[in-house]
Amino acid sequence: MRIALLGPPGVGKGTVAGYMSKEFSVPHLSTGEMLRSEVAKQSPLGKEAGGYMDSGALVPDELVVRILDSRMGGQDCKEGFVLDGFPRTAAQAEVLSETMKRGRVELDGAVLLQAGETIVVGRLSGRRQCRECSAIYHLRNQPSKKEGVCDRCGGDLYQRTDDAEGTVRERLAAYRKESGPVIAYYEERGLLRKVSAEGDLDVTLAGMREVLSHLG
Ligand code: AMP
Repeated sequence: MRIALLGPPGVGKGTVAGYMSKEFSVPHLSTGEMLRSEVAKQSPLGKEAGGYMDSGALVPDELVVRILDSRMGGQDCKEGFVLDGFPRTAAQAEVLSETMKRGRVELDGAVLLQAGETIVVGRLSGRRQCRECSAIYHLRNQPSKKEGVCDRCGGDLYQRTDDAEGTVRERLAAYRKESGPVIAYYEERGLLRKVSAEGDLDVTLAGMREVLSHLG
């Protein structure tokens, strides 16, 4: 299975991708996670990307494509993947299509997770993430058993700096500006599917499974 999850920041792409990755035994490829790991390592790419991320802007296509390309070339991606947060621009969608053509494979679908801005802002402000294994929690909707500690690995839970209110506004603005052409790109190719992510996680996951059962 080869799918891309689209949708605004805070809609739940990371959480849903995590479940789908486990259920279908394919890697979860999050460009946001890859970039955060480069920033933490203070690699040259991380140093360049960090400023954009802190301000809530998109990282230039060239940097994101470079990091994704090397990851997608991995042996574990041969049987499929769940892309989370890529593509975010029409140019990235084009590059993805070219890369896949070279590997003689195709995207099965691009699934747009949908929820209104009030909901996504609420999700972002309560979001907490594990420093060690990147598991995602929410203070109210999906709390860890012990406050501040990851259920899965015991790691520290922290709030992403770009989940601060001002940065969230910038990220939503970037989404509003760039997502239209990406959605249109997949719609024109008959690959776009939509799933409501307004309700409980279980309902969203059921919607995902339903959509995926009709793909490819
Ligand atoms: P995410 O974890 O998907 O919310 O991404 C966090 C941040 O990483 C975004 O706000 C962007 O600054 C950057 N980023 C992640 N994926 C992309 C992408 N495909 N294109 C450009 N910037 C990205």
